[in-house]
Amino acid sequence: MALQLMALPRQLVTLVQFLLVPVCFALAWGLVGMTVWNLITAVRDGVNRATVMHKIPCADCRYFTGDHRLKCPIHPKAALSESAIDCVDYEQTGFI
Ligand code: SF4
Repeated sequence: MALQLMALPRQLVTLVQFLLVPVCFALAWGLVGMTVWNLITAVRDGVNRATVMHKIPCADCRYFTGDHRLKCPIHPKAALSESAIDCVDYEQTGFI
């Protein structure tokens, strides 16, 4: 009788281990996978954002003042923004 009482928790522990080990394994590797995926997407988004920002030509434009109050007298709202990409009034500094 006492042997059966001791055997029941051991079987329960074995059953719980049998169920929990694969679940914990999947959860742990899922967490690692999501972390790696988030790092990859963060780097990819950062590179894409930097690529777009490097297309803004204002820093090399002769009309760019470098003053934060009026960055460009021709397109003051578009200067140093994505709207300035392919600006028709862009002229390279030191060209003339
Ligand atoms: S003219 Fe166009 S490219 Fe030049 S500073 Fe103004 S917005 Fe930028």
